[in-house]
Amino acid sequence: MTLDEILKEIKNAQTIAILTHESPDGDAIGSSLALKLMIEELEKEAEVIIPEFPRTFQFLPGAEQVKIDTETKNYDLVISVDCATLKRLAKNEYFENAKKTIVIDHHGSNNMYGDLNYVNPASPACCEILVSMAEYFQIHMTKEIGTCIMTGMITDTGGFRYMGITPETFEYTADLLRIGVDIPDVYKRIMGTKTKANFELTKKVISRLEMLEDGKVAFSYINAQDEKEVNAEPGDHEGLVNIGKDIEGVLVSIFIRQKEEENAYKVSLRSEDGINVSDICLLFGGGGHSRAAGALIQGNVEEVKEKLMKEIKKWMES
Ligand code: 5GP
Ligand code: MN
Repeated sequence: MTLDEILKEIKNAQTIAILTHESPDGDAIGSSLALKLMIEELEKEAEVIIPEFPRTFQFLPGAEQVKIDTETKNYDLVISVDCATLKRLAKNEYFENAKKTIVIDHHGSNNMYGDLNYVNPASPACCEILVSMAEYFQIHMTKEIGTCIMTGMITDTGGFRYMGITPETFEYTADLLRIGVDIPDVYKRIMGTKTKANFELTKKVISRLEMLEDGKVAFSYINAQDEKEVNAEPGDHEGLVNIGKDIEGVLVSIFIRQKEEENAYKVSLRSEDGINVSDICLLFGGGGHSRAAGALIQGNVEEVKEKLMKEIKKWMES
């Protein structure tokens, strides 16, 4: 069983690092910090290496210990959480130089790039996989671990709203509430708080929002210049794709964000029932989940929009 092997590797390693995907969201950060604390419960140490850390998650236990880089270059064990491919893994040089690697993830598009892979696409959040791991390893669930876990579960289920939710989502949530996790506080921080920069970007996204294909597709964008104007920090673009998604009749929401140095746009797609946006993103070298996916596409706003619409139209017609 993979979980037994994972436990053995953790126990055997002298040096352990945890990595996650670039532009980390609440599930990426929550999984990284929860896993660090779980490893500590097993009386081992692990370093979390995340180059861009959104301010929203600074309240989480262990956030102050997160490293941008470390002295150790060849870890005995490197664990990747919430990340589908090696390419998307931030600081993946640590992964490539590790003696042993483990991948823990919930993306259907995961290509199993670790020595050991524990991937469950039926799980709505990577953090939810960690709860089942903690149970299996008989790790004592603390309030601190639970707070990190709850952050990932709330983020990736959109506050318990998305199709992927499972009975376990609510059972684990109830268990965490029982041990004292302040769920309303986590919920407010993740779902109910906007940074000022995010608010300013929201206004731009709304003013540029276009409805295409008889209102079935919503499209909007932000440029690097917009982010400079509002002093955007990492994570300030989170959730902007939902503005289009929440409009009545919209089946696919497209939000693109300029990556100036790469002459490209980072694409976020969200969909309602029936259109698998992960498959669309895979065509552009990206991936994700059937209803939430992303990719990096070269070109200017119009070119990227055209490339995407060509594929989306095919899906709508099929
Ligand atoms: P978001 O739109 O929030 O950035 O990403 C939505 C989902 O797609 C997330 O699960 C994210 O991990 C995944 N995703 C976003 N961009 C990429 C990408 O370039 N490659 C892959 N494989 N997955 C991506
Ligand atoms: Mn996730």
